[in-house]
Amino acid sequence: MAELLLSNARVVTMDPACPSAQAVLARAGRIVRVGADAACRRAASAGARVIDCCGMVVLPGFIDPHLHLLAWAAALRAVDCTDARSIDEIVRRIRERAADLPPGTWVRAVGYDESRLAEGRHPTRWDLDAATTAHPVRLVHRSGHALVLNSRALALAGITVASEEPPGGVIDRRLSDGEPTGLLLEMNEVVARAVPPLPRAELVAGLREAGKRLLAAGITAVQDLSHTNGPDAANVLAALARESGFAPRLLPPAEGWPGDAAALSGDVARPIKVMLRETGERPVPDVAELAAIVRACHARGRAVAVHAVERRTVTAVVEAFTRAGVRGGEARHRIEHAGVCPPELARRIAALGLIVVSNPVFLAESGDRYLRDVAPADQPYLYDTAGLAAAGVRVAAGSDAPVVSADALATVRAAVTRTARSGTVLPGTGLDPERATALVTAAAAHAAGVEAELGRIAPGLAADLVVLSAEPHRAHARVAMTIIGGEVRWRREPDGEDRAYW
Ligand SMILES: [Zn+2]
Repeated sequence: MAELLLSNARVVTMDPACPSAQAVLARAGRIVRVGADAACRRAASAGARVIDCCGMVVLPGFIDPHLHLLAWAAALRAVDCTDARSIDEIVRRIRERAADLPPGTWVRAVGYDESRLAEGRHPTRWDLDAATTAHPVRLVHRSGHALVLNSRALALAGITVASEEPPGGVIDRRLSDGEPTGLLLEMNEVVARAVPPLPRAELVAGLREAGKRLLAAGITAVQDLSHTNGPDAANVLAALARESGFAPRLLPPAEGWPGDAAALSGDVARPIKVMLRETGERPVPDVAELAAIVRACHARGRAVAVHAVERRTVTAVVEAFTRAGVRGGEARHRIEHAGVCPPELARRIAALGLIVVSNPVFLAESGDRYLRDVAPADQPYLYDTAGLAAAGVRVAAGSDAPVVSADALATVRAAVTRTARSGTVLPGTGLDPERATALVTAAAAHAAGVEAELGRIAPGLAADLVVLSAEPHRAHARVAMTIIGGEVRWRREPDGEDRAYW
């Protein structure tokens, strides 16, 4: 049986029974011993592979409990506009891609952020028409909640001056004549009906790239939280993962609320994802509807994971659980994001026993925009993992990839420092490093309901480990090695080259 001994390490177990150690011994994919070097060496058999960690830090493999794998895979194959600094730059990149594609083929572009563009505005259909009129173009905003179509794509999607907004959606229009500008908010589903699915080979290639990035980030398990997931999502993802050589573990993916409890599939390990959106005057679904969904899922032993970002929608989640008379606890009901959560709301979440899966890495990615756009009174409570933890909420953290690339170390650092890209520190309290590490290890495993298997370094658990050059909250910490089931799947080579092992 294959054995792996990590010795001469600073092992941070996240297991209160034995918080630190020097060595970890794994056998047949499981951790069998954690402790002093000498004791682990004695327990190892003669054929064990021994890795001298030279004093590096060993943690449980990172877990990302909230990302969107297929959207990320597709984004990795799309025209990347995340670092574009002007509309001209976006137009140039789309024009280049269009030149490689037969006329009529959709050009998919992602990642623009109007706040980072020199023009300080969203691109329009007319901007994108300058890139190509022979191809329909779909340009998706970094948040995933807005997109811009060129004129040809608008025509294919059937969006005209006469179109009415779908519930919750916005068609941005020219003031003079009501003509759509191409910018659409919360209308992904309407547009998706006009866009053919990405060819499978492209999805596989994208997923392969996503898998490599996850390993390089020390992430050994992921949970897909897409509300578009159907009853077959686990099989679909597993098949694509096999085809692409995707190495991280796939935790049971969420299933979108099907609109009717009778249509729920039977897998109790999969949370039910509900999108709660803020519209003009009320959240959709409203509190009464959400309470009914919560009651129906809870009765079937299904965890509910509600997407709620703004203070008003988070409040609506709390009111819905209160009205439903449902408490979290072992049921693992979750609030995804809880972007603004002041102390009184955090206390109500704690009293209900709800888990929050936060995104502190957004503070690093978008902190400068938050400082401009978010009311100063709310800023201390943005992705406030420290405030949530202080109120007694069980809080974990996800990347929400492809909104940002999955990077657990960036998540830990952002939770501790609340520092934006520019170096400006956001108001509020930083989380202590140990709890910040738990966000992406033990607490993430608990949120996903897999804490008996993953998230700690303790005998009996899966041997998923990450070796770091320094404690995870340090700015210079780098992933040196990623181990899944006792096998080294990725390591940073001494020559500086990164290598994945399939
Ligand atoms: Zn998400």
